Amino acid sequence: MMLALNMLNNSDIQNLGTVTNRVLVVEDEESIRELIVLGLEEEGFNVVAVGDGQTALDKCQVQALQAQDFPFDLIVLDLMLPQVNGLDLCRFLRYKGNHVPILIVSAKTTETDRVLGLEIGADDYISKPFSMREFVARCRALLRRNRLNTPVEPTIVQFQDIILYPEEYRVMVRGVAVNLSPREFRLLELFMQNPRRVWGREQLLDKVWGMDFIGDRKTVDVHIRWLREKLELDPSQPQYITTVRGFGYRFG
Ligand code: CA
Repeated sequence: MMLALNMLNNSDIQNLGTVTNRVLVVEDEESIRELIVLGLEEEGFNVVAVGDGQTALDKCQVQALQAQDFPFDLIVLDLMLPQVNGLDLCRFLRYKGNHVPILIVSAKTTETDRVLGLEIGADDYISKPFSMREFVARCRALLRRNRLNTPVEPTIVQFQDIILYPEEYRVMVRGVAVNLSPREFRLLELFMQNPRRVWGREQLLDKVWGMDFIGDRKTVDVHIRWLREKLELDPSQPQYITTVRGFGYRFG
């Protein structure tokens, strides 16, 4: 099936994946740091990664702590760090009146650490090990919450008669609202943001279910079938989500 790309109205497409939010990752364990950086960069974030608290402070450009030109939109912060530890770093930024969203990522899982982290001004807390999907979702939520102060145009992604509202978790198909599960929604969002791209099942598992998902590639097929039943006029003759034999699936 050939569908011309010009059927997409560019003005209707605002790809969330291209948001360039600046994230400072402070984590001394190299393997975890690399995983986080990879996960965030794949989602279109601009990432600066450091391995200790002092370098993190330097990167924050201490003289610009309260200024509008603070160099980051989000800080991902480990607690147990060489030199300046995460709690002290967080406390210091808040003491200086800096309100950058802070997501604490820590192996410390006691209630006390969690509560303490939030009490000294962190915005959210995620324990290691974590799923990359959940981690990225939390980063996005923090950035979104931070942006609420400045009104933004609602984002929509449209392809022919399917309209997806990423921030409202809402989908309209031929003018009618359809109910999608979170997985189905994420799958459709990914497809619509990458029209005509061919996805292998492994890639979809990785993107939609997360790196640590242990399961069958058939899971993807099942979700595709459900999605087709909700989108397609005739699910047995799909027009939107087509099967690419030997590779996987394509949208559009
Ligand atoms: Ca650590």
